[in-house]
Amino acid sequence: MDFSFTPEQLAIRDNVAKLCTRFDAQYWLERDRAGHFPHDFHSAIAAAGWLGIAMPQEFGGAGLGITEAALMMQAISQSGAGFSGASSVHMNIFGLNPVVVYGTAQQKKRWLPPLIRGEEKACFAVTEPDAGLNTARTKTAAWRDGDRYLLRGQKIWISTAQVAAKMLILARTSAAEGGRATGGLSLFYTDLDRRYVEVREIEKMGRHAVDSNMLFIEELPVPVDDRIGEEGKGFDYLLHGLNPERILIAAEAVGLGRAALARAVAYANERIVFDRPIGQNQAIQHPLARCWMELEAADLMVFKAAGLYDRGEPCGAEANAAKYLAAEACFRACEQAMLAHGGMGYAKEYHIERFLREAMIPRLAPVSPQLILCFIAEKVLGLPKSY
Ligand SMILES: Cc1cc2nc3c(=O)[nH]c(=O)nc-3n(C[C@H](O)[C@H](O)[C@H](O)COP(=O)(O)OP(=O)(O)OC[C@H]3O[C@@H](n4cnc5c(N)ncnc54)[C@H](O)[C@@H]3O)c2cc1C
Repeated sequence: MDFSFTPEQLAIRDNVAKLCTRFDAQYWLERDRAGHFPHDFHSAIAAAGWLGIAMPQEFGGAGLGITEAALMMQAISQSGAGFSGASSVHMNIFGLNPVVVYGTAQQKKRWLPPLIRGEEKACFAVTEPDAGLNTARTKTAAWRDGDRYLLRGQKIWISTAQVAAKMLILARTSAAEGGRATGGLSLFYTDLDRRYVEVREIEKMGRHAVDSNMLFIEELPVPVDDRIGEEGKGFDYLLHGLNPERILIAAEAVGLGRAALARAVAYANERIVFDRPIGQNQAIQHPLARCWMELEAADLMVFKAAGLYDRGEPCGAEANAAKYLAAEACFRACEQAMLAHGGMGYAKEYHIERFLREAMIPRLAPVSPQLILCFIAEKVLGLPKSY
């Protein structure tokens, strides 16, 4: 078992980290305050060629694996950009996996290059208000009307819809088929045409630079050419990309936790109370030491899952475990970093309160910790399905 990265992988991490130094903590604080999308950061990442890291070479990508993509996303998050930075490019990195795997050559040629060049942003529209984690209950309807479909329904929590020109959207084209609740769902990649889609931003706790929205879709025309793969198999196509998505979120969470821990350690070394650095007290040291161990253990699971995925081996248990462990470790690191900062942890200028608000995101999305525990209990331990 080899835990080391190759020189090429380390170079990816270092180069992304170097680019991120142009966007310091103050930059992210200002974006968070104003709620402005970090377009210049997105453009810089695109200009350096990073958006296509895991996309096929023939369409302008680098054709690398999820290991490299995870290293890249972790470097962004760890730079202090946190989920504000990571979420601004996350969808470009692996969101179009269903197109890469199931799209036609013509669709790939049409859709991948503008995304890789950073000319087009896309959002991922799956969650619905009445379905929640039970995707089988998706109600957004798509029905045929000549050589197009018409879509009607609602989606919730759709990130980057304020700035996206395109969306990957799951809709029901027929009732559940063959006894499978997830049958009858189809996947489309199409224009987010605001004449038919009202995009209403949700006021939320953190990551204000990257919007999340309600979508109200009213007879959105979607050409048949914008359907990915076969009608009714959309959920299966989506499933294919779920493990890599969990791995990337987990890598981002470890990055944010490390950023918080680094700030806590720096502060604990310099802050003098009772004539000694607060970091000399074991009550400050031990929680931070525990956070380091938890983050590094989660990181091992992240890259174990990434390695399995890149070798084409099953990785569902590891990808889910990585997402769970990394999100919890990230949250605890941000919380302990705030406690180590005392009152100043609550002040925006120290950045920890922003980190702590963002640390809730990987716990809640794209799947909850409860549902991961249900999955591990059933699929790994062999207990009865509970949901
Ligand atoms: C910041 C943010 C960004 C997001 N971005 C996107 C996006 O871009 N695109 C998108 O499609 N979605 C997005 N989401 C949605 C996200 O994936 C969902 O919020 C998540 O899947 C949970 O669904 P829900 O909120 O409907 O929770 P619910 O399904 O309502 O669940 C609520 C709670 O009940 C628990 N629960 C439900 N059933 C069971 C059970 N059987 N056993 C145990 N516990 C159970 C859950 O674990 C959870 O704790 C985003 C969410 C957030 C917060």
